[in-house]
Amino acid sequence: MNGKGRSVESICASAGRDVRSATKPLMAPIYQDSVFEVESLEQLDEIYAGREDGFIYTRDGNPNVGTLESVVTELENADDAVAFASGMGAIGNTLLSLVGAGDTVLAGDVLYGGTNLLLRKHLSKFGVGVEFVDVTDLGLIEKALELGPRVMLVESITNPLLRVTDIEAISKLASASGTRVVVDNTLATPLLMRPLDIGADVTIHSATKVLGGHSDAMGGVAAGRFETMAVLRESNRVWGSTLDPFAAWLIVRGIRTLPLRVARVCENALRVADYLSRHPAVLSTHYPGLRSHPDHDLATSMLDGRFGSMVSFELRGGVEGASRFIRALEMIRFAASLGETCTTVSHPAKTSHRALSEGEREEVGIYGGLIRMSCGIESEEDIEADLGQALEKL
Ligand SMILES: *Cc1c(COP(=O)(O)O)cnc(C)c1O
Repeated sequence: MNGKGRSVESICASAGRDVRSATKPLMAPIYQDSVFEVESLEQLDEIYAGREDGFIYTRDGNPNVGTLESVVTELENADDAVAFASGMGAIGNTLLSLVGAGDTVLAGDVLYGGTNLLLRKHLSKFGVGVEFVDVTDLGLIEKALELGPRVMLVESITNPLLRVTDIEAISKLASASGTRVVVDNTLATPLLMRPLDIGADVTIHSATKVLGGHSDAMGGVAAGRFETMAVLRESNRVWGSTLDPFAAWLIVRGIRTLPLRVARVCENALRVADYLSRHPAVLSTHYPGLRSHPDHDLATSMLDGRFGSMVSFELRGGVEGASRFIRALEMIRFAASLGETCTTVSHPAKTSHRALSEGEREEVGIYGGLIRMSCGIESEEDIEADLGQALEKL
C-alpha cells in the first residue's frame, strides 16, 4: 500500500493489513486474528445463516481451528468436530452440553486425574449426579445402566494401567437404556480405534498429547454426529473455551506425521514392554500387547493390531525405588504428559492420581513404585539401554 500523503497515525494504524502475493503458500497461513472484515450486512446474514463460507469472530470460528476440526472429523469418521482450548475443555463442555440438573453421569472408575476432579467436585454444583463403575466388568455396567444415566464416560485405554474398554459392548448396553456414550480416545488415537464406528456417541482427544505430538501446543477436540456437535459448538462459544489459531495450526502440523509416529512408538512400546517384563527389578509390566495383560484378547480384537505407546511398570522399593529410578534416567525425561516424540516417564501416584488417598490409589492398583512410560520415536535400543542402566541402580 502506498502511504504517500497519509498521516503517520493512519500509516501506523493500518500497517500490515493487506498482504499481497501472486502465489499461494504451500502451508496454510496462521490466521492469528480475533475478527474478520465483512463486506456488507447482506454478507453478514449469509454467513450467520451458513449459506456462505466465512468467518466473523474467532470465538465463533477461525480458519485454522476449522482446519483442525475437519481433519479430526475425517480421522474419527464423524459428521463434525469441535476444537477446544484443551482436552479438559473438550471433556467439560461435552458433559455440560449433554447433561442437566437431575441427570446422572456414569463414569469409569479409573480416569484421567483432571476428569476425575471435574466429576467428583465440579459437576455436582450443577445438580448432576456421578456414579463410578469398573469398566472391565460388563455385568456391573449393565446393572449401573438400569438406573438410566444420561451419559456414560469412559476412556478407550485407561491410564495408567492400560486396561482396554469394550466400547462396542458398552455402546450396545447403553443404547438399550438411552444413555449416550462418550469416549476419551486420547491414548488409542483414531489410528488404533474409532469409537464412533462401534457405537459411541462422542469421541474426545486431548490434542495436547499424541495428535499434536510435540509438547508445544494445548488443545482438545470432540467429534460426533451433527446435532450433538451443534450443541457443543454453542457451548464452546458461550463458555469461551475456544482454541487459539496458532495452537490449532501447530496441532495440524503435528497430525501430518501422526501415522509415522504412531507406527514407531507402538513398535518401540511392544519391544520395551517385553524387555521390562523379563527384568528382575520390575515387579509387573502393564501393556495390552503382552499376553500376560488381562485385556490382551480384547485389545487384539478392538485395536488395529497395535497396542499403543504407553507402558506401565511397577518397580521394587515403592516410592523410594521410583524416585531413585527417575533420578538415574539419562535420555528419558520425567514429565507429566505423554504422546510426544521423546520417551517420557511419569509417576501416577504423585501426578495424575495425586488427589486420591493412598488407600484409594491402591484400590485401583496404583502403587508407589508404579512408573508410566510414554514411548517416543527414538531407537528402541537407546530406550532399552537407558532403562537398563537406571534399573541397575535400584
Ligand atoms: C491429558 C489428558 C486429558 C486432558 O487434556 P489437557 O489437554 O491436558 O486438558 C484428558 N484425558 C486424557 C486421557 C489425557 O491424557
